[in-house]
Amino acid sequence: MLELENICKVYQMGDTEVRALDGVSLTIREGEMVSLMGPSGSGKSTLMNIIGCLDQPSSGSYRLVGREVAELGEWDQARLRNQEIGFVFQSFNLLPNLTALQNVELPLIYAGMSTAERHGLARQALTRIGLEHRIHHKPRELSGGQQQRVAIARALVNQPKLLLADEPTGNLDSKASVEILAIFQELHRRGMTIVMVTHEPDIANYTQRILRFRDGKLVADESNHQIMIDR
Ligand code: ADP
Ligand code: ADP
Repeated sequence: MLELENICKVYQMGDTEVRALDGVSLTIREGEMVSLMGPSGSGKSTLMNIIGCLDQPSSGSYRLVGREVAELGEWDQARLRNQEIGFVFQSFNLLPNLTALQNVELPLIYAGMSTAERHGLARQALTRIGLEHRIHHKPRELSGGQQQRVAIARALVNQPKLLLADEPTGNLDSKASVEILAIFQELHRRGMTIVMVTHEPDIANYTQRILRFRDGKLVADESNHQIMIDR
């Protein structure tokens, strides 16, 4: 699915350099569910931005679904991002004035579909995630767990191959967190590749593999005895 080779990212801060990533090499195969862990400032977000084609490395090679990302123009990178990657964030990032359905439709607007097609697909995505009775609600009328489910439906509506989640349970109580993890496990069972940043060992334990970072370096790559949730 994706392959990073000797990835470095250097930020220039005045006359000092910040080495956010320092020679990271790793491969994530199709269908894997992986957690990224490490202290604050260890480079996890920088890495997620590179994996998500939101940012470019300073050096090194990044291949996503067989394509060398640096060789693509901006337009093709945006297309790759929109078609192949779904994003989920800690703060949900839903538009507050749109309903759940309208939020989920957003990625489809760029795909240039008819309104009826968009409604159909968005409704389907929300139904799959158990929110068919909430499609006309605005984010503020939903619980945190429900908002994150809307965000997941939005991330999946384009049928991406890769789901990137940055602290997806960071703003949720433990019951809602378990619900979100159960959804991820179901997606994983159906073949989705999932890469998730988390601070919480309990959350990372739901994944197959844990990658640990420190000072911009990958310091451990652990296979995990996966815990399955029955909902
Ligand atoms: P994490 O997600 O693990 O907390 P980050 O990837 O956010 O780590 O940060 C890694 C390092 O890069 C930190 O030292 C951070 O201060 C620095 N950094 C991140 N983004 C920028 C930026 N846009 N400009 C300058 N330095 C940055
Ligand atoms: P689900 O069946 O999707 O889990 P629930 O009906 O159990 O959803 O509701 C989950 C939470 O969301 C409850 O705490 C409920 O009070 C809250 N909730 C549901 N609908 C609304 C609404 N329209 N406005 C505010 N809160 C709501």
